[in-house]
Amino acid sequence: MNDDKTISRGGMIQKLALAPIMIGALAALHTDADAAATTDQKTAAYVTHPVGGKQCSACALYIPAKTNPAKSPGACKLVKGTILPNGWCKFFSPKAH
Ligand code: SF4
Repeated sequence: MNDDKTISRGGMIQKLALAPIMIGALAALHTDADAAATTDQKTAAYVTHPVGGKQCSACALYIPAKTNPAKSPGACKLVKGTILPNGWCKFFSPKAH
């Protein structure tokens, strides 16, 4: 019985110990993308839908999300904030083939 409590407590301590590391890693990713981006979404005329068949996921400046990149919001090397894979802005630059 004591062993169960020890294992349970140990597991909880392990999870609690990992939480700040995970949060820190996510914050670092967000900060890096935002720090690099210099243009706000209004200036870039960013919209949350494709324009003329062009969208962020096909842009050389797009930084896709690590998980489910086709649907999850990513970031942009130029435009600040959350960028959708099917968004678009006036600085669209097609990826080299
Ligand atoms: S289209 Fe604009 S917002 Fe989208 S990735 Fe390219 S530069 Fe960034």
